[in-house]
Amino acid sequence: MSPATTVIPAPPSAPLSALDLIAHFPLPGLILNRDASPRFVNERCRQRIAGDWLAANGPALLELGANEQARVMQVPDAAGKPRAATVYATPLADQTVVVFDDRAVAAAPAQAAELQRRIFELERLSSTDLLTGLWNRRHFDEVVARELAFSERERSPVSLLLFDLDHFKQVNDRFGHAVGDLVLKTAAERLRAAARTTDQVFRWGGEEFAVLAPATSAPAATAIAERLRASVAAQDFPEAGVVTISAGVAEHLGAEAAQHWFERADAALYRAKEEGRDRVVTAAGGASEAWRGQEQVSALRLVWSDACVSGHALIDGEHRGLFDAANALIAAMTDSSLSTQALLGQLDALVAAVARHFVDEEQVLAAIHYPRLAEHQGLHARLLASARQLLEAVHAGHGSPGEVVEFLAYEVVNRHILKADRQFFPFLQGHPGPDPAGQPSARDPT
Ligand code: GH3
Ligand code: MG
Ligand code: MG
Repeated sequence: MSPATTVIPAPPSAPLSALDLIAHFPLPGLILNRDASPRFVNERCRQRIAGDWLAANGPALLELGANEQARVMQVPDAAGKPRAATVYATPLADQTVVVFDDRAVAAAPAQAAELQRRIFELERLSSTDLLTGLWNRRHFDEVVARELAFSERERSPVSLLLFDLDHFKQVNDRFGHAVGDLVLKTAAERLRAAARTTDQVFRWGGEEFAVLAPATSAPAATAIAERLRASVAAQDFPEAGVVTISAGVAEHLGAEAAQHWFERADAALYRAKEEGRDRVVTAAGGASEAWRGQEQVSALRLVWSDACVSGHALIDGEHRGLFDAANALIAAMTDSSLSTQALLGQLDALVAAVARHFVDEEQVLAAIHYPRLAEHQGLHARLLASARQLLEAVHAGHGSPGEVVEFLAYEVVNRHILKADRQFFPFLQGHPGPDPAGQPSARDPT
């Protein structure tokens, strides 16, 4: 086969996984897990590339995927003789696909780009539900372990929302299966539109949907479920009239098997059905309660301690300011003379201050080349998106200010600084930042 006519498998009619693609790919290829161990090695790779080289170079290949994605390398063949190969590494959700173009003449760059595009497309297709365009159950299984690991590492709560259309069999029976399909599509669109950008919406099964809500404790998740439920109930389904949906919500308990978490959400959904449908029921408990207890956060105010001090003047100054503003808000909540309008003003101001601080902090971390910057930025984005969503709900008249105060004070200010931020404190050693007296920092031109 001449290099110019490498066959890239035709677009599949049914979803295929990256694994299917690599198994049948005409060049050596493999799939790496996130820990650089091989998940799958295709037959050509076994025949043509030295196994011990592969075993030793997993981490380098992962890094290639994370950074440049293609590079010419000297790769030993099965007999151990080094040969030049163009190595393409494509990072996907929780795996990296690696392909070796070890032919005498490298493929045209356009072909390589097409190959990568095809891999991305296949992965997307294999994770998508064809009727609704939502993520599918397979994708859920892939992301849930990652979300739970993140939640436990960062002590950031995560909630599961399960939805089931009410009396959907009757829709099919009265109007036919095709109308049923239309209703499913429209309901899915409503759910996706009403969810936050940080929430992931899945088609869980026939007329069941799931939403994975990171950085979200049970009260906030309940508010989101309620908004999604109302959005479906308010929708006019031209062919079927009014259709309602019930929801069960459960915040993860911390050391809880995923299966048990689903069962609790499902039991809550069952209760919502029992109690009359078109409603949200939330399971008791959640890790955030336990974490709050362990951190011994006073219910009435946050306590600034040495553990919060990074040694960087700008960051410490802003953290301190956020603690003070959060405490002022907690006090305002118990001040009955304060108008809702004034309280909302304070909430807006704190969210804006948090947003400014995140930008400043990310600039400092970028300047010191903090290795986990991208992850930390992701955490900021999630916290901010959740805070803004809760705030919007309060402005719109549903959702309680107390929920926003609680989220801002405990999740964003206290837990984020005490837990996530502390991981970068060691990297700030030797970078004291600008003089707190307001003098220009060493970085500023004089
Ligand atoms: P409940 O309020 O208790 O949930 O009542 P229900 O009628 O929705 O109960 P059930 O879960 O037993 O019925 C679900 C129905 O959804 C049965 C099945 O025919 C229908 N269904 C599942 N998947 C699809 C689909 O892809 N398209 C269509 N049109 N119908 C589907
Ligand atoms: Mg059902
Ligand atoms: Mg149903």
